[in-house]
Amino acid sequence: MKYVAKKPEDGINVSDTHPLVEAGTLVVGLSLIFLLIVVVLVFLVEIALYFVPVEKEVALFEDWLPEDLVTVAPNDERLNRTQQLVDRLASHWGDAPYDFRVEIDDSSIANAVALPGGLIIVTTGLLDEVESENELAFVLGHELGHFRNRDHLRALGRGVVLSLFIVATTGRDVSNISVNVADLALRGFSRKQEAAADEFGLELVYTNYGHVDEAWRLFERWDDADDSLLDVVSYLSTHPQPDDRVANLERLADEQGWPTSGDISPLRW
Ligand SMILES: [Zn+2]
Repeated sequence: MKYVAKKPEDGINVSDTHPLVEAGTLVVGLSLIFLLIVVVLVFLVEIALYFVPVEKEVALFEDWLPEDLVTVAPNDERLNRTQQLVDRLASHWGDAPYDFRVEIDDSSIANAVALPGGLIIVTTGLLDEVESENELAFVLGHELGHFRNRDHLRALGRGVVLSLFIVATTGRDVSNISVNVADLALRGFSRKQEAAADEFGLELVYTNYGHVDEAWRLFERWDDADDSLLDVVSYLSTHPQPDDRVANLERLADEQGWPTSGDISPLRW
């Protein structure tokens, strides 16, 4: 018997669905996939951080320093005083999992940054600006607040956090993670993260001195200063605007009943 191929019916390649409906389904489908990818990417950092506990972070970054840091001499008076102040503030953070390490970046641009492993970098520009120990204590306390919430790792960016995750889970060398202070100075935190860090910082200051007098005096001065000066203060590009901040800190002190006057500790350098 001879096989005779049957001709396909006409219109076999044409769907019954209206082309516009098909196009719509495609667009909606692709948008959902895209949205899912974005959500996964956002959570990836949280997931990576979950797998990098603080102890591991500390062990990995024990001796690590950013590439572009210009350090001062180890016996620098201001370095030692700032380290002592950080240690004193951190002693009020009951179970602080970090051994905080201070380095001074010899830069005229005022800034303070929290970095992996408990490293706090302050610039000579910032140390030139503060006029009392109380002012400096609040800036440092605020950075300690970023450590407590692990904001400092989120600020590194997705790429670095994911390579940190790979290093932590495979035990590879941390030296191939390159981070520049200059890059970090461009990355800010959300208002919520900043407010939480401020709250923790002010609490440490209150616990240490028994009052919060002069804690935010630096920001009041910056707020009064003219704009030409503010342009060079990179601290302000990554932290809340001084006027908002002062109002929030005043409200917080009022709510908590923390005295706003007390003995001011002079800088001891
Ligand atoms: Zn901050």
